[in-house]
Amino acid sequence: MKKDIVYSLVAKELRRQKEMIGLIPSENTVSPEVSRVLSSCLSNKYSEGYAGRRYYEGNQVIDQIEFLAMDRIKKLFAVPYVNIQPYSGSPANFAIYFALMQPGDTLMGLKLSMGGHLTHGHPKVTGSGRFYNSVQYGVKKNARIDFAEVEALAKKHKPKVIVAGNTAYPFELDFKKFRKIVDMVGAWLVADISHVTGLVVAGEHMSPVPYADVIMSTTHKTFRGPRGAMIIVTDRGMKRDPELGKKIDSAIIPGLQGGPHNATTAAIAIAAGEASTAKFKKYAQQIRKNATVLADRLMKNGISLVGNGTETHLMVIDLTKYGPGLGTQAAFAMDVAGIYANRNTVPDEQGSPFYPSGIRIGTPLVTSRGMKEREMKKIADWIAEVILHVKNQPLPDDKKERAVFLKEFRKNALKDPVLKKIRREVRALTAGFPLFQS
Ligand SMILES: *Cc1c(COP(=O)(O)O)cnc(C)c1O
Repeated sequence: MKKDIVYSLVAKELRRQKEMIGLIPSENTVSPEVSRVLSSCLSNKYSEGYAGRRYYEGNQVIDQIEFLAMDRIKKLFAVPYVNIQPYSGSPANFAIYFALMQPGDTLMGLKLSMGGHLTHGHPKVTGSGRFYNSVQYGVKKNARIDFAEVEALAKKHKPKVIVAGNTAYPFELDFKKFRKIVDMVGAWLVADISHVTGLVVAGEHMSPVPYADVIMSTTHKTFRGPRGAMIIVTDRGMKRDPELGKKIDSAIIPGLQGGPHNATTAAIAIAAGEASTAKFKKYAQQIRKNATVLADRLMKNGISLVGNGTETHLMVIDLTKYGPGLGTQAAFAMDVAGIYANRNTVPDEQGSPFYPSGIRIGTPLVTSRGMKEREMKKIADWIAEVILHVKNQPLPDDKKERAVFLKEFRKNALKDPVLKKIRREVRALTAGFPLFQS
C-alpha cells in the first residue's frame, strides 16, 4: 500500500519542531511515555459516564485508568474532587460556568487585550461573552492587575463568578487578593491556572488551592501532559456547596460532552505521575530561571518588555516604541530566523488586535528540551538582532497599503541573508537538544 501523504507531513512537522526554537508559552513537548499512550488502543473505547458508573460495557480497565488519573491529580494538589474529562480548556471553562451560573448572570474576567482568555467573557464573539453578562477588568500602567478596579466593578455588578487567570500576564497572580474581593460580593472564585499549573505543582507559583472554589487547568501547557483539561473543586468549594463536585460532573456530561477521550485520560495519569517527581520540580525551577535570564538579556539588548520583566514562564516584548503594529513583522521575521512565537497585544495597544505591537514568548518548551541559561542568552541575542533588523519597517496606516506591504515584507524576509544566517545558527543549537526526553 502506498504510504499516505499525511505521514510525510507529520515527519515534516517533526523536523520543523526539532530544528526550530519554540517560544510559544502555551506549548511544550511531552515525554515519550505520554506520547505513547496517546496513540494507544484506548481511543477505540467509548466510556460515557464516570469511572464505576458507565453507560457502556467493557470499561473494566478504562475505569482503573480514570480512577488512577483522578487519584494522582487529587494527591498532587491535595484537593478532594477532580474531573479530568473536559476535552480542552475552553469547554472546561464553559462547564464551570454551566454549573455555577444561569444564562444572563454576571461573569467577570480579565480583558483579552490585557492578557485574559477568550473564555473569560470576551464580548460579542465568544460564548462566554454572549450567554453571560460579561464585565471585564484590566491592568494598571505597570502592567499588574488593577485590584482597585476589580473591587469597584465587583461591588457595582455583583458577579456570580470572578475568574482569576490569564494567558499573557508575566507576573505571579495573587489569588489571595481575589478571594478578599470575592468574599465582599459573595461570588464564586474560579482560578484558571492553565498556563502555570506546572509551576504551581512545583511550588514555583502561588497556589490557588487555599483561595479558589473551583480551579481549571489545561493539561498541555507547563503541566506537560496531553491536550486536555481538568476541573478541581477545592475543600473551600466543597464546604460552600457539598454538591459542587456533582454539579461539575453533570455539567460535563450530560451538560456539554459525550464520551471522554480515554487515551487522554491515561496520558494525564502519566503526566501527573511525572509531575510528582523531583525531576519535575527542577524543570519548573529552570523554566523560571530561563525566563528571567531571557528577559534580562533582551532588556540589556535594548528590547522593551511589558512590565519590565517576568516572574513566571512568559514575557511580552513591547515594540510600541518602533511604531504601532510591528508585532506581525517581527514575529514573521523571527519565524524565518528559526524562532517561533506569537504576536500579541500589549496593554494600551496602539495597533490593533490583528496587527498588535507585542510578541509573547515563554520558556516551557525549550526548558523541556534541556536548554539552560547559556542558551537563553543566545536566544535573546538572536531575537534582539531580528527585531532591530526589521524595526524600521512599520505597518502603513492605510488598510489597502497594508496588504501589499505585508506581502512584500514576507517575500523579502524569506530570502533575507541576516535571517537565514540566524536560522543556520539556530539549527546548529537545536541539534544538541532532543525534542523528546524521558
Ligand atoms: C489555554 C487556555 C485556555 C484554553 O485552553 P484550550 O485547550 O486551548 O481550549 C483557557 N484559559 C487559559 C487561561 C488558557 O491559557
